[in-house]
Amino acid sequence: MRRVPGTIAIAAAALVTLISLPAQQAASPKLEVLQVRPNFYMIAGAGGNVGFQVGEDGVVVVDSGSASNADAVVAAIKKVTTKPIRYLINTSADPDHVGGNAAVAKAGQTLFTQGGGAGIAADFLGGGASILSVEQVLTRMSGPSGQPSPFPVAAWPTETFNQPRKYMYLNGEGIEVFHQPAAHADGDAIVFFRRSDVVVAGDVFDTTRFPVIDVAKGGSIRGEIAALQKLVDTAIPSVPIVSREEGTLIIPGHGRLCDQLDVVEYRDMVTIIRDRIRDLMKQGLSLEQIKAASPARGYTRRYGSDTGSWTTNDFVEAVYRSMTEKMP
Ligand SMILES: [Zn+2]
Repeated sequence: MRRVPGTIAIAAAALVTLISLPAQQAASPKLEVLQVRPNFYMIAGAGGNVGFQVGEDGVVVVDSGSASNADAVVAAIKKVTTKPIRYLINTSADPDHVGGNAAVAKAGQTLFTQGGGAGIAADFLGGGASILSVEQVLTRMSGPSGQPSPFPVAAWPTETFNQPRKYMYLNGEGIEVFHQPAAHADGDAIVFFRRSDVVVAGDVFDTTRFPVIDVAKGGSIRGEIAALQKLVDTAIPSVPIVSREEGTLIIPGHGRLCDQLDVVEYRDMVTIIRDRIRDLMKQGLSLEQIKAASPARGYTRRYGSDTGSWTTNDFVEAVYRSMTEKMP
């Protein structure tokens, strides 16, 4: 009989937990923070995946998630470290990857507070973290001249580059940012942290669906496959001792943490579908006939969709259109 009050107490405690849980969830979006290396973290659930590196120099963040989750992303970073956010690197101009730019940059502090050459950027941002991207990301975010820009000025990249590789050395490791032209869109970058051995891939690699190729914004199947190949070439798998589960980690634009083999499979899948579509085009089939021939068969259960913002047919059409416009 003495166990009864205890049982009631436990039940009451459980009830309190149940009651307080929805309130907490309403207060902040449910983000998942995963420590993937001693000084490297991944945040999932904020829109596109976010990666951040922590060290002596401060925090280097890759992508900022959606605008609606910006405060939660900042809070998640601050929970891990009190070091200032120094850099924010963008992998594309998509709202689910740059929407939190203004909030993340504002929560940070540029490395360049002493004026000089970089003083312009420091003044421009009011001392917030620098935002680095491929030049085309700034073009997309600022919008064509004479039209209202789709993002506030505080969200725009403060530092852009045009060469195939941009690099820096922070927190004791080399950081390489590779421009992948005409892939998912025209401003894609993949970011490689060499000592941590982590690559943040952006939307050229999306484990939740077929890769989104935005032909209207300069994307192409050729560049998409080249970007996947670059990921494969940059990463090293856990060989010859596969049981160790070591090797390079790849954070996709969306979906779970991956290794090189995952990217190899994804690249092969995209290449096979591209080859099928190309063969059907050579046979003279129209786009509608090619769609009807299901060139993505065998992969639709895992990556396909008949509804939503990126259907299987959208993918097939993007592959078709980018090959029609740039036939080898
Ligand atoms: Zn995305």
